[in-house]
Amino acid sequence: MRFATQCVHAGQTPDPSTGAVMTPVYFTSTFAQRAPGDHDGYEYARVHNPTRTALEGNLAALEGAAHGVAFASGVAATDAVLKGLSAGDHVVATNDLYGGTYRLFTQVYERFGLTFTFADLTDPANLEAALQANTKLVWLETPTNPLLRILDIARLADIAHAAGADVAVDNTFATPMLQQPLALGADLVVHSATKFIAGHSDVLLGLAVTSDVALRERLLAKRTLQGSIPGPFEAWLALRGLRTLAVRLDRAEQTAAELAPRLAERAELSRVRYPGLPTDPGRGLAAAQMGGFGAMISIEFAGGAAAAERFVESLGLITPATSLGGVETLAERRRRQPSEPLAVPESLVRLSIGIEHVEDLWADIEQALAAL
Ligand SMILES: *Cc1c(COP(=O)(O)O)cnc(C)c1O
Repeated sequence: MRFATQCVHAGQTPDPSTGAVMTPVYFTSTFAQRAPGDHDGYEYARVHNPTRTALEGNLAALEGAAHGVAFASGVAATDAVLKGLSAGDHVVATNDLYGGTYRLFTQVYERFGLTFTFADLTDPANLEAALQANTKLVWLETPTNPLLRILDIARLADIAHAAGADVAVDNTFATPMLQQPLALGADLVVHSATKFIAGHSDVLLGLAVTSDVALRERLLAKRTLQGSIPGPFEAWLALRGLRTLAVRLDRAEQTAAELAPRLAERAELSRVRYPGLPTDPGRGLAAAQMGGFGAMISIEFAGGAAAAERFVESLGLITPATSLGGVETLAERRRRQPSEPLAVPESLVRLSIGIEHVEDLWADIEQALAAL
């Protein structure tokens, strides 16, 4: 089955008891047993829920993975991966990453005896330099947030594996439609399904997928023990969102590809970051590693932070808000705390392109640029 077909069908079959085409929302905490311990794999909803199982099967198929494990949020999925490590272990992570991931690593896990090195992994030699005898995990995010830099997953995975470390990729920005990290050598893929996967800005949910049975068992055990499960309705919303991922992202990407070169011509902007632009430093690698360039664009203003602020305030149709990956276009001034490893330019605004008509988006951008 091709990707768009898998989006609609993978992990789901009509409900055996009624024939319902949509997977029902199983609002139940427990399941009847024929005799003590005699059941069909569903015993208690912290461990298993059929709506969640359908979602996990769908995303696993899309990522080309054997197993999916759903969590209450993207950071809960990341947290479960980190809980698989032990005090004394070392992690190398890209220095350009989601702020919540950075803070989870440094504010929580450093206190429990893990150590972290944040390195510029756009140059694989920097991974070689950062590895230690106790490095157990390499954490990648590509395209990065919010600088949209591209990391070479296959090269980095080879280097990490030679040193005995597992590789996890946060695939939130690309989605499995544009990038399948397991096929490039990664061991684990983590998603904030809150974003493109669910796609409608109406739910928080996370997923981890892997084809490694031991990793899956570890993730399931962590989830069961810490209770970081999504509710059945959240799982159902994400599953419903996934069914239209291919059409949504296709449209959003076409629009981003149309807007990025128009933005690049504007004198008000000093830089446009979009991996699909011919001048983008990540263009070659993105073209080789990804099936498309995505729907995220970061722009920097010649007039500095004040111009960025004014632009965002002047937008009408485009909503100023954090988050990304919904059907509506959002704009956000992404900033980093001074303690975070790689600074984000003060004048940067990140655009998450939705599925509105391209000319309506452009009209809004043009009038906001004219207001500068
Ligand atoms: C939003 C986001 C997360 C965190 O996900 P939540 O669902 O908000 O917990 C992790 N990584 C990236 C790249 C994100 O954009």
